[in-house]
Amino acid sequence: MPTYAIEAPRVPAMPIASSDDLFPVRRVYCIGRNYAAHAIEMGHDPDREPPFFFQKNPDNLDASGSFPYPARTSDVHHEIEMVVALKSGGTGIPVEQALDHVWGYGLGLDMTRRDLQGEAKKMGRPWEIGKSFERSAPVGPLHPVSEVGHPSEGLIELKVNGEVRQTGDLNQMIWKVPEMISYLSDYFELAAGDVIMTGTPSGVGPVVAGDTLALHVDGLGDLDIQVE
Ligand code: MN
Repeated sequence: MPTYAIEAPRVPAMPIASSDDLFPVRRVYCIGRNYAAHAIEMGHDPDREPPFFFQKNPDNLDASGSFPYPARTSDVHHEIEMVVALKSGGTGIPVEQALDHVWGYGLGLDMTRRDLQGEAKKMGRPWEIGKSFERSAPVGPLHPVSEVGHPSEGLIELKVNGEVRQTGDLNQMIWKVPEMISYLSDYFELAAGDVIMTGTPSGVGPVVAGDTLALHVDGLGDLDIQVE
């Protein structure tokens, strides 16, 4: 074992449903505007744009069940997303072989400091300040493919304090999971432990302290997140 000059940071990890094992996370890729209705609500034409990705930091993932209202913003938005976890990777992965690399699926939120993201967009600056902050990706446990298969259709829904705010169907994704994996593998070397957040349906909006966010995706169950 090597020795380190300072104490080594912990390995970021996600819990696994019905197991005490953890899923170690290497990278977190997030696709933008992957549901047509959400692209339109953000002021874009969904038909003319190739996919694009940004990254969150692996240690932004948080399975604690709570989301502390972050600093330096007054407009934090919820984005419910299905999360894909890879058990292997590579480059130049064909679409037809992409699902062979998937370990499992889960529920997550791509929490966004929309005001800071908006300023960054306006100035042509990167998005990290709006997207990649502490605890910006509340997640639930992963479900292995052996138990849930590869969800490609079904309700994806977010309620805030019992009221439906976001609703869509997984089959409305503009870029499907195999296409996202294949596309990413043309630009990056994917590997075991990589996680992909697959985009959010329409209805994004602000949260405030005290809100309860209830996530649901057919086949992947439910997850409650408390805003504090
Ligand atoms: Mn998102």
